[in-house]
Amino acid sequence: MLNVDLHCHSNVSDGALAPAALAARARAGGVDVWALTDHDEIDGISEAREAATALGMRHVTGVEISVTWAARTVHIVGLKFDERNQELAEGLKHTRSGRERRAREMAAQLAAVGIPDAFEGALKYVGNPDLISRTHFARYIVETGACKDVSEVFSNFLIDGKPGFVPHRWAALKDAIGWIRGAGGIAIVAHPGRYDFDDLELDVFLSEFKRLGGAGLEVVTGSHTEEEYGRFATIAKRYGLLASRGSDFHAPGESQTDLGALPPLPASVVPVWHDWRW
Ligand code: AMP
Ligand code: MN
Ligand code: MN
Ligand code: MN
Repeated sequence: MLNVDLHCHSNVSDGALAPAALAARARAGGVDVWALTDHDEIDGISEAREAATALGMRHVTGVEISVTWAARTVHIVGLKFDERNQELAEGLKHTRSGRERRAREMAAQLAAVGIPDAFEGALKYVGNPDLISRTHFARYIVETGACKDVSEVFSNFLIDGKPGFVPHRWAALKDAIGWIRGAGGIAIVAHPGRYDFDDLELDVFLSEFKRLGGAGLEVVTGSHTEEEYGRFATIAKRYGLLASRGSDFHAPGESQTDLGALPPLPASVVPVWHDWRW
C-alpha cells in the first residue's frame, strides 16, 4: 500500500520548514509519493524534488492556488504539471501580487484593536516576501499573547466579521484550472469540507469545476473529519471525480496532522494516482 501525501506547505509559502526539511519529515513519516503544494508559488519545487529523490521518495510537482468563486475563497491544488510553463508562472505571480497591500490593511485593523506593528511582526515569520499570509499574522498574534495558539487566532481574528479580515479577490476558477491544465497538470479541489457551501452551492461548484476540466477532490485531508471522508468519497463517485489524499501539514506543533499520518483513501474511490507511472 503506497503512502501518498499530496498536500503540504514549506516556508516558501506559510509552512515553517524549508522544502528539504519537509521532504525529510515526509520520508520519516513513511511517505512514498509526495508533493509540495505551496500557496500560489512554485519556487520550492526544485529543492523539494532534489531532496525527495535523494531520500528515495517519488515526487510530483504541486501548487495550491487561491481562487475566488461566487464571492468565496476556494483552494485548487494542481499536480503533475510542468513547472517551467510560462502561463502558469505568470498566473501565480499575478495571484500573489495583492498580498502585501492586503497585509498592510490587515495590520491597520489589528492596530485599531490593540495589536500594533503586526505587519512587521508577521514579516518575521515570512520566508518569501511575495507570500505574506494570514498564517504569518496568526503566528505573530500568538507571540503577542493575545491568543494561545493559531487555531484560537482563526476564531477571534483574521476571519470574516473579526478584526484583521480584509476581503481579497484571488484567481478565477476558470483561470486556475486553465493554468494547471495548460501546463499538463491535473486540478483537484482542496479540502471541500472547509467551504460552507450548502448542497445546492456544492453541486453548482462541482459541476462547474468538472465542466472546466477539473479532475478530482481531496477526500482524506487533515481538514476533514472521519465522517467527511465518507461523505466526500460518495460525492467524488457521484461526480466522476478522482480522490486525493494530503495532510495539509504546515508546521510542527501547529498542524494537527503530520505528513503521511492520515488513513488511506476509502476503497470505493479511484485515487488520483491510479494511472501514474514512475
Ligand atoms: P491566506 O491565503 O493569507 O488567506 O491564508 C490562508 C491560510 O490560513 C490557510 O492556508 C491556512 O494555512 C490558514 N488558516 C485558515 N483558516 C485556518 C484555521 N481555522 N486554522 C488554522 N489555520 C487556518
Ligand atoms: Mn496555509
Ligand atoms: Mn487550503
Ligand atoms: Mn494547504
